[in-house]
Amino acid sequence: MAYDDNNIFAKVLRGEIPCKKIYEDDFVLSFYDINPQKKIHALVIPKGKYIDLDDFSDKASDDEIVGLIKGVNKVAKKLGISVEEGNGYRALTNISEHGGQEVPHLHFHVFGGEKVGKMVE
Ligand code: AMP
Repeated sequence: MAYDDNNIFAKVLRGEIPCKKIYEDDFVLSFYDINPQKKIHALVIPKGKYIDLDDFSDKASDDEIVGLIKGVNKVAKKLGISVEEGNGYRALTNISEHGGQEVPHLHFHVFGGEKVGKMVE
C-alpha cells in the first residue's frame, strides 16, 4: 500500500488542517486528539511519510526512529504525565485493520491524566 498524501495527518503536517499543537521538533509533531478518550489524549506523529509502525520500522532512518521515541517522552514530560513529572501514561499505536487504525499516517496515542484502565477490550 502506498502512502496517501491526502490523509488527515498529512494535511495537519502541511498546515491545511488546524491542530492544537503540544510540541514540535525536526522529527515529530504532537497535538491533542480531536476526540479524547481520556483526560489527556495526545497524538505524536513523525514528520516523514510513514503509514504505520511496520512501514516506519522498514524505511525510517535511525535518526527518525530515535526522534519519534524521544518525541513521545518529550510530550509526556511537557504534559506532566511522565514518570519523572507525574504518574505515568500509556503510549500505543494501532497498526492496520486488526489494530483498528483509522488514519494511515503513523501516530502514537498518549493517554494519561488519570488511570487509563484495561489494555484491550
Ligand atoms: P487510529 O484509530 O489509531 O487511527 O486513531 C486516529 C485518531 O485520530 C482518533 O483518535 C481520532 O479521534 C483522531 N483524529 C482524527 N482526525 C483528527 C484531527 N483532525 N485532529 C486530531 N485528531 C484527529
